[in-house]
Amino acid sequence: MDVDELAVMDGGKCILQLRGVRPFLSDKFDITQHPLYKYLADHDKKIGLIDVDGHNWPNLCLMKLSAYHKRQGDTVGWWKPAGWYDIVYKSRVFTDTYSKDSIYVANAAQVIRGGTGYGPGPDLPEAVEHSCPDYSLYPQFPDTAYGFLSRGCPRACGFCIVSGKEGRVSRQVADLSEFWHGQREIKLLDANLLACKDHERLLAQLAESRAWVDFSQGLDIRLTTPDNIALLNQIRTKAVHFAWDNPDTDLTAYFRRFAELTNIKNDRRRRVYVLTNFGSTHEQDLYRVNTLRRMGYDPYIMVYDRPSAPPVTRHLQRWVNNKRIFYTVLNFEDYAPRKEAP
Ligand code: SF4
Repeated sequence: MDVDELAVMDGGKCILQLRGVRPFLSDKFDITQHPLYKYLADHDKKIGLIDVDGHNWPNLCLMKLSAYHKRQGDTVGWWKPAGWYDIVYKSRVFTDTYSKDSIYVANAAQVIRGGTGYGPGPDLPEAVEHSCPDYSLYPQFPDTAYGFLSRGCPRACGFCIVSGKEGRVSRQVADLSEFWHGQREIKLLDANLLACKDHERLLAQLAESRAWVDFSQGLDIRLTTPDNIALLNQIRTKAVHFAWDNPDTDLTAYFRRFAELTNIKNDRRRRVYVLTNFGSTHEQDLYRVNTLRRMGYDPYIMVYDRPSAPPVTRHLQRWVNNKRIFYTVLNFEDYAPRKEAP
């Protein structure tokens, strides 16, 4: 094995070196699975969790870490400034622009930070990644399962971290049963499920569940086909999300075909993210919004690097995203932005 092969070695493998034997490739052993693990000093640690982004959306990493540690017999809970912890995990999805980490932890032997908000870092260990999330951490979101069936995306859009972080191919990472145990609703977090070669089988799993499914991160409208739309029609879809990010790409034919073939007839359940402040003009932003509305979709403005966005983009965002305004004031030109908007 050369250095390059070592660098991409399967995370579940290791090279063992024992005296008197040539080094050999082996599966890693998870010591916590050993029947005598409970007698080790490692056992029954006190674990503290910090969701740096707040509690408006469940933090999947923390739910998996919680499940993993509870399985080891550790005591897990939200971190508090009092008391002592063996390990405190801080997790943050958003960067400083939207989520500042001002929490100082002085009462832990070890503080581990992770999540895209902190920049590139190692993935969760396999045993944690494939733990069924501990949903009891967020009782405010009852009866809902969260997870990924696939990871990665082949598109590598300039504003998006997914391809760099998860790879330029969409591949299956789990079956639905790994994170869904009969909840009424499933929030799917996949970045580009339709780009995964196994997506038809995964869509069938979602259909069989009879749970309400929210494709929360967006399906790729360019990869919809009559076949996979027919499969999507078998799923109890709570909401479907698409994106029209690049104003130079005309996606109208794809959106028209989907609207014709889907059995989701309610515009409000066919949301389309429209990226702004990333090289597009206001006219291009407005064109995408108005075109989507005409085709029976619910546009939703996403602003790249919001602090640098011009006032007109912020006004557009408020007009579009506040649905009470959007469906009563039909033309942006007639919308009087709030006085205090900068
Ligand atoms: S298609 Fe979506 S997930 Fe893929 S790189 Fe572009 S924005 Fe990211």
